Amino acid sequence: MARDLDCIFCKIVAGEISTPLLGSNELAIAFRDIAPRKPVHILVVPREHHANVVELAESSPEELHAVVSLANQMAKQFSGGSFRLTFNTGAEAGQTVFHAHAHITSETAKA
Ligand code: 5GP
Ligand code: ZN
Repeated sequence: MARDLDCIFCKIVAGEISTPLLGSNELAIAFRDIAPRKPVHILVVPREHHANVVELAESSPEELHAVVSLANQMAKQFSGGSFRLTFNTGAEAGQTVFHAHAHITSETAKA
C-alpha cells in the first residue's frame, strides 16, 4: 500500500494517531476534522497516499469512487441532507495536508 512516512493522514490510516472513525470502506476512511469550520465537518481520505484529488483520479478511479461513496454515506448519516464536498487542490487553494481528502461540510447536523 502506497504510504508517505511523514504524512499525518497516512498515520491516521495506519492507526498510529488515534482518531475515532465515523465510517470506512475497503479503500477509504472518514473522521471528524480536528478544527471544524461548520456544524458538520468530516474528512474522507483514501487509505493509500495520493497527493491530491487529481492524482487520485488519474491513478486510482476506484479509490476516488470509494471516497465519494463514503462521503455520501457520511453526509446522509450526519448532515441534514445538503452538504458541500470540497477537495482543496494546491497550497494556494488552501490545501495544507498533501494526502487527497474530501471535506464534507454542512450547516445542519442531523438531530
Ligand atoms: P486542507 O487544508 O488540506 O484542505 O485540509 C486539511 C484539514 O485537515 C484541515 O481542515 C485540518 O483541520 C485537518 N487536520 C489536520 N491535521 C489533522 C489531524 O491530525 N486530525 C484531524 N482529525 N484533522 C486534521
Ligand atoms: Zn498520506
